[in-house]
Amino acid sequence: MKILITGGAGQIAYSLIPLLLSGNIFNTKIDLILLDIESCLEKLEGVKMELEDSNFEYLNSLIITSDLKTAFSDIDLAILLGGFPRLPGMERKDLLEKNLEIFKIQGTALNNYANPNVKVLVVANPVNTNCWIVNKFSPNIPSENFTSYSYLDQERLAYLLQIKYNQRYENIKNIIIWGNHSSTMVPDVSNYNSEIKLDDDDIYMIQNRGASVIEKRKLSSAMSAANGIIKHITKWFHGSDDEIISFGVYNMNSYKFPEDMFISIPVKTYKNFNYSVVDDLQIDNKTRTMINISIEELKEEIDLVKQLL
Ligand code: NAD
Repeated sequence: MKILITGGAGQIAYSLIPLLLSGNIFNTKIDLILLDIESCLEKLEGVKMELEDSNFEYLNSLIITSDLKTAFSDIDLAILLGGFPRLPGMERKDLLEKNLEIFKIQGTALNNYANPNVKVLVVANPVNTNCWIVNKFSPNIPSENFTSYSYLDQERLAYLLQIKYNQRYENIKNIIIWGNHSSTMVPDVSNYNSEIKLDDDDIYMIQNRGASVIEKRKLSSAMSAANGIIKHITKWFHGSDDEIISFGVYNMNSYKFPEDMFISIPVKTYKNFNYSVVDDLQIDNKTRTMINISIEELKEEIDLVKQLL
């Protein structure tokens, strides 16, 4: 299994790598490639030294690089963490422009060098739009091989159900995050327990949990993000056992949502990175209205990127 992590010198990567090399997901040795920008190569060298000193049983080989061809050649799985962060005072258009540059180049590299069967998980924000860009620039790779990350939001919702509604984590299933990964995302527990009605405070908490972590930590979520990535990949690779989970996937008119965008919607996953969209759930009017707002926001983002192309 050849796995690329972009943003390899960043904080999520630092939490993610040991979990990925635990042998719990892929019961096979891993050829790991860490890509970062040239100015972070020295930091990557430090990460490499720590990996050497960790003697992970499941690490077969390690490459650190800033070269796209080296990074993307023959990979089976890409976890895209590296992106341009939103700096204070930065307009959304500027952020999209910066990330367009990055994901256009990486999409092209995927297309040219990766195993055509490669699976791609996009985590860098704005995650749904970055996933759309990278997918657009790798036309040889099927759109269903790309997913964007909503699992952390789903885990936050599971936590809320435990602390406020006294649910047991092991019983919680079929909870959904709909829409764009932003402060408009829509948590939905109606398919888990229709008697639990999330109130506006609950919804606000889920939508703004990432921002709350940044406020306290002065850094964005990393440990929990890494943990959610592991859960996403585990479910994607091994299957969700009939449980409904949330992935950002390329939408093919499910629920009459607009096509040609990556929207967080309910899926079931099966062995070997297969999944199907669960497209027959009932959505109440309030939830539907909120989802429409979130998707409209996403559509505006993608329209803006299309203008910049
Ligand atoms: P970080 O700033 O610690 O690390 C990002 C790394 O990416 C840096 O080392 C940077 O040099 C690198 N990078 C930048 N441009 C690159 C490029 N073109 N190629 C390769 N590497 C590049 O950030 P982090 O905390 O690790 O977070 C990574 C991303 O994940 C951020 O975009 C963050 O917003 C996002 N995130 C998403 C969620 C989610 O739920 N979707 C949650 C947490 C964080």
